[in-house]
This record gives sequence, structure tokens and C-alpha cells, in this order.
Amino acid sequence: MNTKRSDEWYQKALEFMPGGVNSPVRACRNVGRTPLFIERALGDKIYDADGNEYIDYVCSWGPDILGHARAEIIEAVKQSCDSGLTFGACHRGEVELAQIIKRNVPSMEMLRLVNSGTEAVMSAVRAARGYTGRDKIIKFEGCYHGHSDGLLVKAGSGLLTGAIPDSAGVPKGYTDNTLLAEYNNEQSVRDLFEHYGDDIAALIVEPCAANMGVVPPKEGFLAFLRSITEQYGAILIFDEVITGFRLSLGGAQQYYGVTPDMTTLGKIVGGGMPLAVYGGRKEIMECVAPLGSVYQAGTLSGNPTAVSAGIAVLNLLENNASVYDELDRKGRRLESAFRLAGLNVNREGSLLTVFFTDQPVENYRDAKTSDTKQFADFYSYLLDNGIYSAPSQFEAMFLSDAHSDEDIEYTCDIVHRYKK
Ligand SMILES: *Cc1c(COP(=O)(O)O)cnc(C)c1O
Repeated sequence: MNTKRSDEWYQKALEFMPGGVNSPVRACRNVGRTPLFIERALGDKIYDADGNEYIDYVCSWGPDILGHARAEIIEAVKQSCDSGLTFGACHRGEVELAQIIKRNVPSMEMLRLVNSGTEAVMSAVRAARGYTGRDKIIKFEGCYHGHSDGLLVKAGSGLLTGAIPDSAGVPKGYTDNTLLAEYNNEQSVRDLFEHYGDDIAALIVEPCAANMGVVPPKEGFLAFLRSITEQYGAILIFDEVITGFRLSLGGAQQYYGVTPDMTTLGKIVGGGMPLAVYGGRKEIMECVAPLGSVYQAGTLSGNPTAVSAGIAVLNLLENNASVYDELDRKGRRLESAFRLAGLNVNREGSLLTVFFTDQPVENYRDAKTSDTKQFADFYSYLLDNGIYSAPSQFEAMFLSDAHSDEDIEYTCDIVHRYKK
């Protein structure tokens, strides 16, 4: 029986882990709070060590699109566990999961299962480089693609130079081949292609950005990225670690009607277990070992436990055709409540962010004009009223199928009474 409270566990955690956490945003430093220690979660609720109940709009940062502890997923995992947690060998679940993914995301003609979104993106970029024989990649300011060395970069060095690492411990050389463009700014992309055209292996983008807060693509932006990458023979990679199986069954590529060469999936595809995927056009994926010379491997890749959760969640999503309309309806309801309260909100489907700035947010520069102190205020107000949301201005609120109308109406009511 746990008798410690969140604060006590946190003090203990500080002795063992940097900042007491295993992923930095959880430390809640941006909002001047300390972390809650979660005991359990069910449906749209999570419960902390102090016995408090919250309506959860984090959903583990996306995976829990059907809510927490969905019975069919738990059952599938339990059954799988009885046959062993990992074999480090082929099993039929891998094939079943690959089939379901390809059925819904047909551009992933061939794919690989890995263990995290970071790994999926890192591997996709390597395959794109191997296939094209080129080194440079383009990413957008404010888009997050995991914490691999070459992708941890920010702006500040001008658009036409190699990027500066965003983290200590990343040698400058590792990001020399990473070029930065501005989201929703076609000219910034055109400039890079005109300057570096033949050296650019890939352009990677969150088709709907959700790691600078939610920033949907402008009309035509993704189609533009499709055509310019084609023109220069560069690989277009959609990082759908958040948007995959969230904006629609076919992800952002189906939602916006633009087909990339390669796709990365994570979060939802593992049903709450560590599982991610990269894949794309057959001739690109055939460059990966053992068929080709691009090396990539993993001891626990495709392990039956995670795969069973993935199959279960995707089966449920496939068999519940109304889930995306319902998520959109709930998203629309929350959006209207935020607007009524005078707040600036971006939304795409079941992804929302309230920005504490008066200007429209279409890129990272706009997002950075937000008043993060006001955000912290708002965050604490919600939390103190039983609403658990992401403790950072630059993250999304996630809705799940388990969010009840009652809980959404309660949330709208709390938002309505918020005084800026
Ligand atoms: C979360 C995320 C990643 C990284 O996934 P991890 O499983 O945390 O390594 C990569 N890309 C995007 C768009 C993400 O949201």
C-alpha cells in the first residue's frame, strides 16, 4: 500500500533521477509546479498519490486515444504476456500489425517496427540518406522529431547555414547537415532547395505541428512540400508520431490528402506500450539491412507484448468508424468554450492548444510570442480545478474516445469562469 504523497515521492525521486523525472517536461518546471505522482488511470481520468482525481487531457502525450486502461487492450496484453514477453525472433503478431498499418496507411508499402518515436525518425532519416546518397536534411523550427543528435536543433544561425545544436553534448558537426526552415513559410523552403538542392536527402515535417503547441498547416503548404521535394529528388518524410491514427485512421496524409515518401508512427500505434514504426516506398525501405546497406536493428523491436497492444488498439479504431467524428465534435466543443472565454486557440481534430498571445500562431516565431507566465497561471487554475493538461505552452491537449460529454462540459464551465 502506498502511503507517500506526490511531494514525498518527488523528493525521493530527486535523489535518483535528473530533476526527479525520466522525461524533462514531466518536472513541471515551466509552470512552477512539482510533478504529481500518478497511481492509476482509467477512461478519461487519472488519479494521483494524494488521492485526487483529474480529467486527463494529456493521455500520455497521445497514445491513449481510447482512454486509459481500455479493457480490450489490457486483455490482449495479458494474454500475450502469458506466452512470454519477448523472443528476439519472428512471430506472427509482427506481420498482423504490419498488415493493419499498411491497410490504413498505404504509402507505408514496407515498414519496420522499433521502440520509440525517436528511433523511428532517426532510422527513417538514415534510410532516406542511404537511398539518395545525400547528407542534408531540412526540418522546421518548432517541429520535434525526438532527441537524436542531428535533429536537436533550433534557429538563430540564419536560414542558410547549418543549424546550431539545441542541446549540450551534441557536437557541432552532427547538425551541420540539418537545415532549418520556417513552418508554413514556403519561401524559406524554396531558398534552401535553391541553395542546396542536390545535397538534400530529405525534408521532415510534422504534417500538423503539435510540439510548438498545435499549429496546423496552411492550405496548400503540404502540397507545396510534396511538389518541391519531388522536383529536387528529396524524400518527403511525414513525422506522424502524433498525428498517425489521431487525425484519421490514415493519419495526417489521409486527412490532408498529401502522400509522403516515408512516414514515422509512434504513440497511438503502440496502444500505450513502447512501439513505433517507420516505413514508406518499397524501394527506399529495401535499402535497409539485411536487404540493403542501411543498418538498423533492435533487440526488443517488434516484441510480442507491445505488438499485441498495437494490434488491439488499431482493431478497435478500425471497428469504430465514428470515433474520429466524435473526437472532432468534442474538440470543437472545447475550442468554442476557449474562444468564448476570450482565449486564442489552435485546433485540428482532437488536438488543441491555447496560446497566450494575441496574434495568430502559424509558426514557431508566433508561438514564442506567448506569455508563458499567463500560461502557467492558466495551467495551475485548471489543475486546481481537477483538470490535468500539459504543463507547457508548447504542447497539445489531447482528447480521447473516453472523454465523456459530462467531463467536457465540466471543463468548458471551468474555462468559462477563468479570469485572465
Ligand atoms: C513524441 C514525438 C517523437 C518522439 O517519440 P518518442 O517515443 O518520445 O521518442 C517524435 N516525433 C514527434 C512528432 C513526436 O510527437
